[in-house]
Amino acid sequence: MATPTRQPAPKPGILDIAAYVPGKSNAPAGVKLHKLSSNETSLGPSPHVHQAIAAAAQHLEIYPDGQATALKTAIADRFGLNRANIVCGNGSDELLTLLAQTYLHEGTEGIFTEHGFLLHKTAIQATGAKAVMAPELDAHVDVDAILDRVTERTRIVYVTNPGNPTGTYIPFDAIRRLHAGLPGNVILVLDAAYAEYVRRNDYEAGLELVATTSNVVMTRTFSKIHGLASLRVGWMYAPANIVDAVERIRSPFNLNTLAIAAAAAAMADSSHVEKSIEHNSAWLARLTTAFTQMGLKVSPSVTNFVLIHFPETGSKTAEKADAYLSARGFILRRVTAYGFPNAMRMTIGSQEANEGVIAALQEFMSQ
Ligand SMILES: *Cc1c(COP(=O)(O)O)cnc(C)c1O
Repeated sequence: MATPTRQPAPKPGILDIAAYVPGKSNAPAGVKLHKLSSNETSLGPSPHVHQAIAAAAQHLEIYPDGQATALKTAIADRFGLNRANIVCGNGSDELLTLLAQTYLHEGTEGIFTEHGFLLHKTAIQATGAKAVMAPELDAHVDVDAILDRVTERTRIVYVTNPGNPTGTYIPFDAIRRLHAGLPGNVILVLDAAYAEYVRRNDYEAGLELVATTSNVVMTRTFSKIHGLASLRVGWMYAPANIVDAVERIRSPFNLNTLAIAAAAAAMADSSHVEKSIEHNSAWLARLTTAFTQMGLKVSPSVTNFVLIHFPETGSKTAEKADAYLSARGFILRRVTAYGFPNAMRMTIGSQEANEGVIAALQEFMSQ
């Protein structure tokens, strides 16, 4: 019989990790819900996806293709890439975590940025390595702050570009300068979850840098513009040495058959992606203007969400705005855990949702 006072102890550091809190998705009874808290697309996935899933569902007794060949082919065709340099994941979350597991251990360090994706820090901490935070500059990734924190123990640097929850980006010149300043044994991970939405000539997701170096990885997702968040599909483009190492610990069937088929169909439907970009660009400009005119500061976004900053004290705080909007069915995201206690992140939604938030916030600000 086990002694009742003893229980399994997680390895050191695990209980220091803050559990992930997903975006809220509930509205008061009788109020229509507009979930604008998780950067999902209001346009849904490509209409071709449902047909692809129905076809793939014919043989659920068969294990998935562990190489996700159909999906890698669709991605490689779309971007002109070498299929051998693509690894698919159960969401890009899985890939970001696998990279940390492959290259970090106790005694090493990983760098994440002040307002970067929370999962980067978690992925580093879960390995027993030290997570080192690099401050940002006015909600933008700061290359010098990252380089200042590199030591001989650093093995990986995570950069979210464009950022979440900031929505801001840094030009590719800056990413090149960051890469040039890193020792060759440090992996630079470019988390480009929102790359499709960016309309800037000086932005690049990083494909070329991956292709011409041995220590840069770019990650992408099907959860955002492709509208497949529920199916969990992401991919990374990486040099052969990194693909080889990560493949050794990836679960052999990490993507299921329906997800592979759906994502391949989504990748092939570029007209649906174009439609989503158009909807987004138009509303990004309108929402930014509307909130700015109300006297609120909006971080300059190139993504499918905006970070709205509220006064620290008084009757117009983020907390009060959140209560006001939630009561009307508009669920935005509080971003205190990301270092913005006085801001809220709003995902760009349908016309109805966007107009509703503008009207409600207008009321809130002028009451
Ligand atoms: C949404 C998001 C992801 C995507 O995660 P998935 O696991 O692919 O759903 C990755 N990075 C950032 C910064 C994100 O916002």
